[in-house]
Amino acid sequence: EARQIPQRFLFYKPYMSKGIADRILLEQDLHNALANNEFYLDYQPQVNLKTGTIESVEALVRWRHPTRGFVPPDVFIPIAEECGLIIPLGKWILENACTQAKIWEKQGLPPMKVAVNLSLGQLFQQDLVEMVQDILHRTNLDPSFLQLEITESMTMNIDQMTQLLHELKALGIQIAVDDFGTGYSSLSYLKEFPIDCLKIDRTFVRNVPHNPNDEALVSMIISMAKHLRLKVVAEGIEEVEQLSFLIDGGCDYIQGYLFSKPISPQQITETYKDLHHR
Ligand code: C2E
Ligand code: CA
Ligand code: CA
Ligand code: CA
Repeated sequence: EARQIPQRFLFYKPYMSKGIADRILLEQDLHNALANNEFYLDYQPQVNLKTGTIESVEALVRWRHPTRGFVPPDVFIPIAEECGLIIPLGKWILENACTQAKIWEKQGLPPMKVAVNLSLGQLFQQDLVEMVQDILHRTNLDPSFLQLEITESMTMNIDQMTQLLHELKALGIQIAVDDFGTGYSSLSYLKEFPIDCLKIDRTFVRNVPHNPNDEALVSMIISMAKHLRLKVVAEGIEEVEQLSFLIDGGCDYIQGYLFSKPISPQQITETYKDLHHR
């Protein structure tokens, strides 16, 4: 009987194998999700602090699983990366976001940039530049209205990355560094990379203005960005105190629940109409 087996032999933990089985099931479902139309995009406004208007929105992918319900991108993007699905999924996301930007334009909304996250796997995609060019061409979106968000990574060398970013920039699009400050080599590549915008990670802004160290870091990033003539977006703003600190510090844009959570394209249209008919 199980009760008589000494404790040290009970290394088999049912929940461990369940975790792995779950991961395999999720990966299988992920493969069908594109064909089954289970993905969609929400958009989170980025507000210009000087004008109070929405100048850009970030596209964020969502997966509505038929039985599990909402699966967060933090869970399925890493799996999609590992199994290679990020390539077709990434293409779908980009195409969808560019199409949507064009729809907003046709609805008469003021020009609004759409920011799309690129994951690491896509940076290694051989035909990335052609793919972006092709999507811009097919959707007929003005390239200056597309911004790609990349994260710092140690797995691509600086020369390769610089080359790739120059090719992307040559298409006329914008480049933002996402989660700025959380990776490595942040400072050395800032002078090499042709980037337009820094997004300060939420972890730095979270305890502002209560933590003097975080305050110092955020102020330093903003002033550095200004010297380098980069736009700066503070992410994850939830509190009015954070907002005041950023306005005083000269931050250009904020993105966070304080203003709006990620919302549907229809809600973006409504929000815009509300803002401009006040
Ligand atoms: P991220 O690119 O840093 O996106 C910002 C995340 O912060 C989003 O979570 C957003 O909903 C959340 N956020 C925004 N404002 C606030 C706030 O005030 N408070 C808090 N607590 N959170 C806030 P989400 O949508 O769950 O995405 C998580 C991550 O998944 C993203 O982080 C990104 O790394 C990845 N991801 C999401 N969509 C895509 C996509 O389309 N493509 C790729 N490659 N990755 C994506
Ligand atoms: Ca992002
Ligand atoms: Ca981010
Ligand atoms: Ca992130």
